[in-house]
Order: sequence, then C-alpha cells, then structure tokens
Amino acid sequence: MPEQRSSERYSRQVLYPAIGAAGQERIAASTVVVAGCGALGTVSASLMARAGVGRLRIIDRDFVEISNLQRQVLFDEDDVREMKPKALAAADKLSRVNPSIVIEGVVSDLNPDNIVDLVRGFSLILDGTDNFETRFLINDVSVRHDIPWIYAACVGSYGLTMNILPGETACLRCVMESAPPPGSVPTCDTAGILGPVVSIISGLQGIEALKYLSGNRESMSRELVSLDAWTQTMTRLEVPRSGGRRRCETCDGLEFSYLSGKGSRSVTICGRNAVQVTPEGRAAISLRDLASRLSGSVAVQETKFLVRFQVEDLQVAVFPDGRAIITGTKDPVVARGLYARYVGA
Ligand SMILES: [Zn+2]
Repeated sequence: MPEQRSSERYSRQVLYPAIGAAGQERIAASTVVVAGCGALGTVSASLMARAGVGRLRIIDRDFVEISNLQRQVLFDEDDVREMKPKALAAADKLSRVNPSIVIEGVVSDLNPDNIVDLVRGFSLILDGTDNFETRFLINDVSVRHDIPWIYAACVGSYGLTMNILPGETACLRCVMESAPPPGSVPTCDTAGILGPVVSIISGLQGIEALKYLSGNRESMSRELVSLDAWTQTMTRLEVPRSGGRRRCETCDGLEFSYLSGKGSRSVTICGRNAVQVTPEGRAAISLRDLASRLSGSVAVQETKFLVRFQVEDLQVAVFPDGRAIITGTKDPVVARGLYARYVGA
C-alpha cells in the first residue's frame, strides 16, 4: 500500500496526543493474540486490526452459529451456513478491513500443550474466552513468560475487565484462588447476554490495549473494573497483589499448575459416540441449582442421579461430582466447549 494511504488510515488516531506518530509506530510494531473469538473477541480483534497492530493472531475452537449473530459482530449468515470456524471467519473479514497488517486465524483449543507455542513472542494477550480454566491457563503463561494480558468477561448486562501486568499488578489468581465450582456461575448460554455490554467491555479492553501498545503503560488501569450496563453502574476495585492477604500460587510461588496440566480432563469413551469431561478437583455440585439455571434455555431432566439436557443433536448428562458425559460426539474439543457454555467454569 502506498505510504500516503497508510498514513491516512490512522490519521485520526495519530491526532490523539497520547498516541501521535511515535505511538502509532509502536502499535505497528506490536503483536497481539486474541484468545477466543466470540462476543468479546470479535469486537477486540476488530479494534486491534483497525488500530493497526502489526500482527494479530485470533485463536478460537468453535464455529459460527445463528445465535452468535446478535453480538458477535464479525460474523454473518454465510458463515453460519458454511459452519465456518470463528477464527477463520474473523481473520477473513478483518483482512478485508486492513490488508496492511498480518492477521492469522488459528482454529485450536488452547491447552497446556499448545499455549506456549501459540503466544510466545507476542506483545499482549486479549481475553475473549468463556471459561475460567482457559483464563487460568492464560494467566500462567502470562506470568511465566512475562506477557501482559487483559482479562474480560460478560454475562447478562454485566461485565468486568482487569489488566494483568506480570510482576507489577495483581494476577487473576490474586483475585481468585481457583475457578468457581462447575455449574455455580451463570454463562451466556444459561443467563443470556446483551450485545451492548460486550461493546463496552471490549471497548475498555481495547483502550487499555492501545495504551500498552503505544507506550503509555503508566496510564493503564490498576483496578478491577466491573459494570452493569443496564443500570449504568460502574465499580472500580483496587486489587492488591496476592489479594493482600495470602500468598498467590502464581505470583509469589511461581507455580504454574494450569500450564503443567491442572484443569479439566476429557476422554473419548471407547465404543460409544461420547466424551467424558471431568472438571478440575471434583467438587460436589447441586443438581437442583444446575437444573434451574438451565431450565430457561434448554429442556432439562433432573433425576436423583444426574441432570440431563439436549443441545441440538448432543445429549449432556451431568453428575453430582461435576463430571459430564456428552453423547453425540467423539471430539473432546466440542465436549469441553459445550461444558464451558452450559455448565460453566
Ligand atoms: Zn497472583
């Protein structure tokens, strides 16, 4: 692309004094991973591509469905018809928005075996995931390899975000020692999600990313920001390292248990078209609570022994120890994705 058009492209961003020509050059030299390309990821990836980060890697394990279009702004009905992987659909769209940068779509389930290779050498990781297990994995790789990341999450009309600058700010495990028990937290697939809250949270994540990438690290927020878009209430919470009280396994102990394989396990069940997902540290879950949370979005059957529900042609049975058997697939990635969406954590 001729130099003239390239400088026009970013002219309004360069006019902003804290960015300027020098900041834009830094942004162009930077590399960003968008981990998870659903609601938050599509907005964040779009913001980064348009802002001109030099290299953008978009990682996602899922494909586009019709119920995504309400909030996942990079996808359309053609993607739904083709059942296109989200990472590729997003990369294709954004390559047409900004062909002057390198954009890679990676169809992959982030796990302890591949995450280091997928993020090594990148300047920043943006959280677009939908589950705590992957976030703790990102947190481990961030602290271990000194790559900042920006946590973000949304459900209903509520969202939150926090910058994690390794060695400087609190990390995600300073905020919470471990993931909440399976089935105990609402997810977008059980409690719903409003499109505008995604834009707000991704917008906050995006502005923090631009600060970091343009060399304005000192201006970055050191707080956990949460908001309810419906009531327009915003809360900022100071988060001391190690939660101010206890030792953080990750920051203080330099133990990277998720990177070394802690977390859920999934195995394909021999002779059956099914996968068993076993969450980390089997916690007793309340079948009654899970059934009532699910009842708004899927047809649920609750027995003394399990909760069973159907999502399209897949049948999910969840047991009181949090374990689930997903029938109708042999693919552990599909099974883990479904577990994260409907059971949670
Ligand atoms: Zn920590």
